Amino acid sequence: MNLGLSLLATAERTPAAEALVDGHTRLDYAALQGRAARLAGGLAGLGVGRGDRVAAVLKNRHETVELFWACQWLGAWFVPLSWRVSPADVAYCVADAGARIVLVEPASEEHAAALADVRLVSVGGASGCALALDELRAADPHPGALDLDDGAISIMLYTSGTTGRPKGVPRSHRAERAGGLSQALQHGYLHGDRTLGVMPLYHTMGDHSMLAMSLISGCYVCQPDWSAERALELIERERVTSLYLAPTLFHDLVTHPGRPTRDLSSVRALGYAGAAMTGALVERCLEAFDPEVFVNHYGSTEIYTFSLDANQRAKPGCAGRPALNARLRLVRPEPGAGPDDLAPPGAEGEIACQLTSDEAFAGYWNRPDADAKAIRDGWYLTGDLGRLDEDGDLWIVGRVDDMIISGGENIHPLEVEDALARHPKVREVAVIGAPDDRWGQRVVACVVADAGTTPDELDAFLLDGGALARFKRPREYRLVEALPKSASGKILRRVLRDA
Ligand code: AMP
Repeated sequence: MNLGLSLLATAERTPAAEALVDGHTRLDYAALQGRAARLAGGLAGLGVGRGDRVAAVLKNRHETVELFWACQWLGAWFVPLSWRVSPADVAYCVADAGARIVLVEPASEEHAAALADVRLVSVGGASGCALALDELRAADPHPGALDLDDGAISIMLYTSGTTGRPKGVPRSHRAERAGGLSQALQHGYLHGDRTLGVMPLYHTMGDHSMLAMSLISGCYVCQPDWSAERALELIERERVTSLYLAPTLFHDLVTHPGRPTRDLSSVRALGYAGAAMTGALVERCLEAFDPEVFVNHYGSTEIYTFSLDANQRAKPGCAGRPALNARLRLVRPEPGAGPDDLAPPGAEGEIACQLTSDEAFAGYWNRPDADAKAIRDGWYLTGDLGRLDEDGDLWIVGRVDDMIISGGENIHPLEVEDALARHPKVREVAVIGAPDDRWGQRVVACVVADAGTTPDELDAFLLDGGALARFKRPREYRLVEALPKSASGKILRRVLRDA
């Protein structure tokens, strides 16, 4: 079933179920489907057809969701891009995707100004555009590309590009729908659930949250800009039932001074992804929400779900077992290693996922170099290091490239971060390796902490706690105001290392 049909099916099944909330705009599934068909009609009037790319530099607003569905209805590729990156990066992606139509809003006017040879469509009153989305939506409804093969491309997401140029990840209707279904099932969603739509729709988490809601006749509550205060207000007012967020956002929510005064009792299911959560943060989330379901979802843009742990209460931070659609292996973390070069039992290895997953992409857009690096013999090499515990459950140890080798010992940043995060005055911490003449690399901790916190105090805490081997202790502490992060909550360690 392609996604146009999928939306139609939901609209026929539950026309009056609330689909989308954005401020004062409320749409049920019948209205959403109607708007998508009319917007598709407007796009078709501009010459957009099957396989054409439509780019959008938009926040999470109702128009973004309508545009996603209009593209599905038309058989065009939806190419959502981040308004947080530089205009040059957006221009690169637009050209790489070959998009001729780009939708922009006030937050992306600067990006729009850097684009050449494209037709700009304004959303929410963005200036400098010849056309507005409202005009496109006034068109007659498009009949829909309902016979489109579900192997056709639905969306192209760009990976955050913490190293090098962003890479386009084209994903089929089938892979997208499978990802939405797997999320609905594995995150324990129920018919009519409501989720907070704050993870960007240009990221795989935001995209699939919206899709999962559409499959269960659920509601997607847009939050265009992150603010913990506003999120708490929306959760209370809109009776949000599921939260699927990056760890950073959970951190902001549970530590917000206004949180205890809010009624958060509607929240039943929690899930996080994008980065590891420290055990300390898992505990704080459990205290704040007392959820029925608390899932650690480990996945990526390329293959939506690798593994899942459905009971964070029992094993905080654990990434669990291969997900519904996935087969995983740990392979030797060496250049050139393939899926058959298994890591010895009990040892750490690079996590590989078989591309037979229904949720998998089929290769990068125009990047044979990236395919050659990441895809080997039908397996996708994640670049993540993992190990299995005595029960056979997976733990993410870090990125292969982030491992610190100090005095010949391997030290994983996450382990040191987890130990430091338990100090009551530490709010956030990132650990990196800095070049060192004697040790090769020395462990440096960049810490966001309460005023007056001293390195000696932190070091004494690690020595007393005994949770961390002595040689893994940071040799240097940097007390910083904030940590650089990507939209999905990944600490940009490269930025820290460069600094
Ligand atoms: P992205 O494609 O931006 O979603 O990034 C995918 C990468 O994020 C993975 O390869 C991991 O490095 C990291 N990641 C995603 N989910 C988790 C998780 N639950 N725990 C630890 N790392 C994660």
